[in-house]
Amino acid sequence: RLSSERLKALDTAHHLHPFTDYKALGEEGSRIITEADGIYIQDAEGNRMLDAMAGLWCVNLGYGRQELVDAATAQLQQLPYYNNFFKTTHPPAVELAETLCRLAPKHMNRVFFTGSGSEANDTVVRMVRHYWALKGKPEKQWIIARENAYHGSTLAGMSLGGMAAMHGQGGPAVPAITHVRQPYWFTEGRDMSPDAFGQACADAIEERILELGEDKVAAFIAEPVQGAGGAIIPPQSYWPAVKKMLAKYDILLVADEVICGFGRLGEWFGSEHYGLEPDLMPVAKGLSSGYLPIGGVLVGDRVAQTLIEDGGEFFHGFTYSGHPTCAAVALKNLQLMEAEGVVEHVRDEVGPYLAQRWKELEQHPLVGEARSLGLIGALEIVADKAAGKRFDKTLGVGNLCRDICFDTGLVMRSVGDTMVISPPLVITKAQIDELVGLATAALDETARRLQA
Ligand code: PLP
Repeated sequence: RLSSERLKALDTAHHLHPFTDYKALGEEGSRIITEADGIYIQDAEGNRMLDAMAGLWCVNLGYGRQELVDAATAQLQQLPYYNNFFKTTHPPAVELAETLCRLAPKHMNRVFFTGSGSEANDTVVRMVRHYWALKGKPEKQWIIARENAYHGSTLAGMSLGGMAAMHGQGGPAVPAITHVRQPYWFTEGRDMSPDAFGQACADAIEERILELGEDKVAAFIAEPVQGAGGAIIPPQSYWPAVKKMLAKYDILLVADEVICGFGRLGEWFGSEHYGLEPDLMPVAKGLSSGYLPIGGVLVGDRVAQTLIEDGGEFFHGFTYSGHPTCAAVALKNLQLMEAEGVVEHVRDEVGPYLAQRWKELEQHPLVGEARSLGLIGALEIVADKAAGKRFDKTLGVGNLCRDICFDTGLVMRSVGDTMVISPPLVITKAQIDELVGLATAALDETARRLQA
């Protein structure tokens, strides 16, 4: 095996990483992760870290599950690849479709498979517009999404996303997609009560619908809890108000469950936590616990019926839609989650325990808010707690804290000065204690360096 130094040098020389400032890699290069077990990862120098991000919000069953390796191996031997085009299919895709629809809300009985969450959201854009055309309303084209949202990196995924940095690069976005304010009370709403702010954010959607024309809007897309934007848990008033308003204007609801799906919020799908009945649910990540790439769009009966009965052929699909080996691993992953009661573990055990332990971090001088729901959480780092004032952006305090976390044996993500966690769902209470201890140590060290 190549030495760690050699790997780093070759990586810097040849590898263009996603979401990485190439210049900032500098002398130090990338951290090379070589192995993992349970909720811990290890780098080439032998440093072990508690992975409180579950990779990229996906390794829900934790690392090193032999059952998933065996499922992949058996499928690779039997039928490594075949497709689902032109009236063919294979057992793993069929069984996964049935299992997913059984676990999904009652009105969702069909699934379209993709290779990733981004492809799932590309599928959503084409599917909702196709749906309205089939209904004889081709003028319903606009899709309303939210500022600061992340829905993927393909052209349609980034267009649905509301990240200014992404829109600033790579040319024009897909037309007829617009963004409204996000229900991010801590940064945008503290001049109001959370519930008044949640209502104001829902009202902003209605205002946009009226600006665009009430018969011109096809769909609204959002995550139940916004992940990559900073683990943004909306005020209680938000979703009921949004739901009511979408029904009023006959607009489809797309709940992006790529992060919230498969137990993250303590229900199989985040939509269930908020009592949503989405028309479409893009999924990925936790579907296979990240062991192999697979995604899909769960389709509610209303849309499915029109696609099937009025639609004929939908000219859309991917070589790897429902890839048999990925589907076999996803199926085994869901079976293990059911057999081991992973969703209940999050809802009844570790979710409430994290909520209690995480909240204690609000005692720390740097923490303006500590919030969590199920197993997603965030810390807002502030310069002045009473005023909720942030540090100067140029200090890069969030990234400093993230790097200190790495050095102290914890993977946390920074979104500006918001520190985010989304640990594997199999985490235990003792490991939550360890996580909170490591986070506290990293915050202390961050404070010390800021004073130095
Ligand atoms: N949607 C959400 C909410 C996501 O968080 C992500 C990825 O982080 C995506 C879509 C895109 O998924 P993928 O990276 O599998 O394309």
